[in-house]
Amino acid sequence: MEKASEKITKGISLRRMSVILGAVFLVVSVLLLVFTILTMGQFRLTEKNARDYIIWQQNTGLLQAGSDELTYDARAFSVTGDKRYVEAYFKEVNETRRRDKALETVKEAVSDSGVHMHLDNAMQTSVTLMNIEYYSMRLVIDAMNYNITEFPDVLQAVELDPEDELLSPGEKMQLAENMVIDESYHWYKNLIEDELKQCVNLLAESTEVTISDSFETLRFLFILQVIMIFVILIIIALLIMVIWSQVIRPMIQAVDEMTGRKFLTPHGAKEFILLVNAYNKMFEDQRSQRDMLKFEATHDVMTGLINRAGFYKICAKSDLSTTAIIMIDIDDFKNINDKHGHDVGDKALVHVANELKKNFRSNDKICRLGGDEFVVVMNGVEDTEGFRRIIAEKVAKVNNGLLNGGSENPDLSISCGVAFGTAEDTTESIMKKADKQLYYVKNNGKQNVAFA
Ligand code: GH3
Ligand code: MG
Repeated sequence: MEKASEKITKGISLRRMSVILGAVFLVVSVLLLVFTILTMGQFRLTEKNARDYIIWQQNTGLLQAGSDELTYDARAFSVTGDKRYVEAYFKEVNETRRRDKALETVKEAVSDSGVHMHLDNAMQTSVTLMNIEYYSMRLVIDAMNYNITEFPDVLQAVELDPEDELLSPGEKMQLAENMVIDESYHWYKNLIEDELKQCVNLLAESTEVTISDSFETLRFLFILQVIMIFVILIIIALLIMVIWSQVIRPMIQAVDEMTGRKFLTPHGAKEFILLVNAYNKMFEDQRSQRDMLKFEATHDVMTGLINRAGFYKICAKSDLSTTAIIMIDIDDFKNINDKHGHDVGDKALVHVANELKKNFRSNDKICRLGGDEFVVVMNGVEDTEGFRRIIAEKVAKVNNGLLNGGSENPDLSISCGVAFGTAEDTTESIMKKADKQLYYVKNNGKQNVAFA
């Protein structure tokens, strides 16, 4: 398993990033909302301007239509002498009142003084025309010999020129007709038309200006909206990228590494790195704890040698036909404890362990079975005279070291019994044979080695 890499404090901070992106997102969203509201307002204003223009144009048209209706009725009366035309005429003047209503509507809605002036001029000219029409109608009433009291007051109030009064009915009819179709009448009619045209032109001009201003503002607001939408899209794209590269991808890798019981690679967002480091630390602690427990289960804490359980495990794994087992027991160890105390006895046990380690090969397994009992397992060896001699020499060296332990260690010695395994042997049977030899040494002067 690879080692945990050192702490990395680099990486994007998710907390800081979410605060920054959240703030930018909020600002942009508020701006977008404001621009949208402004756009809607501007759109409504533009729509109102267009509607107003249509209404004003319709009303100036109505004014013209009202005036034309009066002309038509006056002319028809002068030609036919039919009273119904006078009724229609005064119905338009007093009831329908298209001209007055249109005038009021436009004047109310438009503050432009030029428009007002043209409308007033048109209306005044219309009044002049009406006076001509009243006179013409009065001539017809006289010519037709109608009872004047049946007609509206304004007609009754018309006083005919004394010269005109003397005219015959036919001449009066002719004069009445001429008055509403001659050039001067047309001149006034054209004047009204011109005034209304100019009025419509003025309205069109001012409407065009306001509408083009409105469109300009609308265009600007639309551009701002598009920019804000782009910014929001960029923020979303950034968020997705960051979440992918800083969280999701490192997490997928972490899951793979966890499944493979490996240390996690610290990369991605700062918070994720902190999490990975904490996990790695826990993983390392747990691993060393487990290793320690494993070691403690098979080793003797005091001497650091392999314990009884470890010894049996080693034997189980060994080819016993090429294995030698050396059973070791410290001579008169009780005396050491009695004489120097238990602590010195413990130190003596460590001293024996060290001497054994010093004199045996590194691949020989030195074990403490318990108390003052040790055993050395030698693998890959043959029972030969030469090898027996080698073992005897090693034991002698150990004893030499123990008997000259210096001032710190009391003098000691060990007794050993050695047995070589055969194809038929089990761990117990070899141990039994080695033990027998140890027993023999103990009973024959100790501080020696005997071979089975
Ligand atoms: P012999 O030569 O016959 O072996 O005599 P001995 O006194 O060594 O007798 P034996 O081996 O039977 O006694 C072993 C003694 O080792 C018994 C006990 O007091 C002592 N002992 C066992 N374990 C420990 C230990 O962990 N520390 C210490 N200080 N003494 C121990
Ligand atoms: Mg002993």
